[in-house]
Amino acid sequence: KKNPIRKPDWMKETIPGGSKYTAIKAKLRELKLHTVCEEARCPNLGECWSGGETGTATATIMILGDTCTRGCRFCNVKTSRTPPPPDPNEPTNVAEAIASWGLDYVVITSVDRDDLSDQGSGHFAETVQKLKFLKPTMLIEALVPDFRGDTSCVERVATSGLDVFAHNIETVEELQRSVRDHRANFKQSIDVLKMAKEYAPPGTLTKTSIMLGCGETPDQVISTMEKVRAAGVDVFTLGQYMRPSKRHMPVSEYVSPQAFEKYRALGVEMGFRYVASGPMVRSSYKAGEFYIKSMID
Ligand code: SF4
Ligand code: SF4
Repeated sequence: KKNPIRKPDWMKETIPGGSKYTAIKAKLRELKLHTVCEEARCPNLGECWSGGETGTATATIMILGDTCTRGCRFCNVKTSRTPPPPDPNEPTNVAEAIASWGLDYVVITSVDRDDLSDQGSGHFAETVQKLKFLKPTMLIEALVPDFRGDTSCVERVATSGLDVFAHNIETVEELQRSVRDHRANFKQSIDVLKMAKEYAPPGTLTKTSIMLGCGETPDQVISTMEKVRAAGVDVFTLGQYMRPSKRHMPVSEYVSPQAFEKYRALGVEMGFRYVASGPMVRSSYKAGEFYIKSMID
């Protein structure tokens, strides 16, 4: 299908820069780390790696391989029913590399691993534990799959020592089936976030994100935000869906920066600890800077 809508001017990329950015970039070459920031050519790289006003540098790391057992209509990751087994040394190697990097806040994420008996939750927990042991001041967000709603998987990650438990619902409640893989759904994802809040030590934040431009209405966005908030979720982010290729679902609209700002203000009113909302926002956008600011306020 053709995507008839032109990218508006506000979808501009920023140019990386700053001394922290340069140091982090240089150090990365020594380490065998693959960042989502670089591999996805994220336009926010300069802002995230420089740490912004609080100097809290954020980057996103992917564990458990590059092949997903699911296939969502918006996602560009390669898929297979039987991806290669995870590298048992990965939690140690990744933890050591991240600890020696100049980062302050790391988002550890993965593909979905429905093929593994623990769905990858053990690998996540081990990575977080090792990293916290090596560098206790590091802020860690785990952005995890739904683990098919499995309680013990959620508990394992929620009690691993992380600071933020994130799981993305991706789109409004009404569009779940047409956007996400058929094994995902709204209730299951909300339940995962509720369970995480229950199991994690007090002070741990929960977080979720949606993309706009998938065909949702403003009312659906607002009611989804209300349901997420009612599930005790602390942090909410909204960004613009961008079509990775012609094989992926088309963009329904480019939502204006003003509309994003309205959702942000509304989210703050609803009681979210912080809301990141804008055309270029990804769920990990300046996560460290926002986290620190929300703790000061
Ligand atoms: Fe990396 Fe996420 Fe920031 Fe992009 S938004 S640069 S992926 S941390
Ligand atoms: Fe992509 Fe995640 Fe969906 Fe897998 S589960 S296809 S990585 S969005």
